[in-house]
Amino acid sequence: MSRFLNNKLFRYLFVFIFFNFTTLPAKSSSSLAAWTLKTNGNLELRTKSNTNLKAYFQKANKMYGDRFWIDFRGELKNPRTIKGNGSIKEIRLGKPKIGTTRLVIEFKKETYLQPLRLRMIGLDENRWRIKLFNPKKSFKKIGEGSVEKKIGNVKSTQNSSYMKKRVYDSLQLPSVKRNKFLVVIDPGHGGPDPGAIGIGGVRETDVVLEVSKIVEKLLSEKGVKVRLTRKNEVDLDLPPRVSFANRFGADIFVSIHANASRGKRRDINGLETFYYRGWRGRLLAKGIQKQILRVSPGSPDRGVKQGRYFVIKNTRMPAVLVEIGFLTGRLDARRLEKTSHRKRIAYAIAKGILEYLSKVG
Ligand SMILES: [Zn+2]
Repeated sequence: MSRFLNNKLFRYLFVFIFFNFTTLPAKSSSSLAAWTLKTNGNLELRTKSNTNLKAYFQKANKMYGDRFWIDFRGELKNPRTIKGNGSIKEIRLGKPKIGTTRLVIEFKKETYLQPLRLRMIGLDENRWRIKLFNPKKSFKKIGEGSVEKKIGNVKSTQNSSYMKKRVYDSLQLPSVKRNKFLVVIDPGHGGPDPGAIGIGGVRETDVVLEVSKIVEKLLSEKGVKVRLTRKNEVDLDLPPRVSFANRFGADIFVSIHANASRGKRRDINGLETFYYRGWRGRLLAKGIQKQILRVSPGSPDRGVKQGRYFVIKNTRMPAVLVEIGFLTGRLDARRLEKTSHRKRIAYAIAKGILEYLSKVG
């Protein structure tokens, strides 16, 4: 780790950015609404809706300890410094330039962060959490405002404006040679097997069927031949899904699922894509994973992994199984219950497929 950080490139380590498509006017008030650095070393934030966060890390030098900071849109009224305790020297809220709020956490000299392990997790559309450090000595909570607080009104406007400016239709998707490719889309579960049951009773079978049908429509508009393994709520075992794809001579096979966590933990969210073997399957999985993450800001990247699922193990073409979020997770479930988000996910999957087909063919 330290060898890495001595490299100048890592001196200012850019950790992450969240994009979205709404711009706040530069003069607006700070989009940081509340923050708390908890006794367990977690930093929690509540922000305005449609917030861009940029986080940075700076290694300690002779003068200062490690520093971590986050920039928010909108301007702070009263720059201030708050005294720390334990490993924290101080916390500063500042205005580095017009239209920006900066929250700086400065550690005492003997504390070393592990910047490559820092991951921001979206808990909700306006709540964030990041594990910053493991307090060795006792650490007393520091913060301003309530990160838990919900503002009744904000939520509905937030949901409706959230990413709405993008148009998710096939015109924006990459083009491939028409009538050349055959794709089998496999909506997981069905009929008596509803798959995962999430918050509010939302069922995996319904979510993945709707997403699959939108993927089918988008790909068809691009001249790709698509077959769904099921078009409605029927009981379909795994072997027929595989033999269907094999018989059809599909170029690729994509099985679509949604997750549930053990114990239905609401804090577990995230997306993952599995392949069984081969660089083609891996490439397809990586492409789809990248695209679905783009439309799911704040939801953790659980990665591209090898998996031994029956449907991807026994199909003869490059095959992936994509998990589009946790129906038991607060952040993912709230999105997946809406058709607007299902459209975004379907668009992302279609984009991953088309990019793969245009590259590998
Ligand atoms: Zn499933």
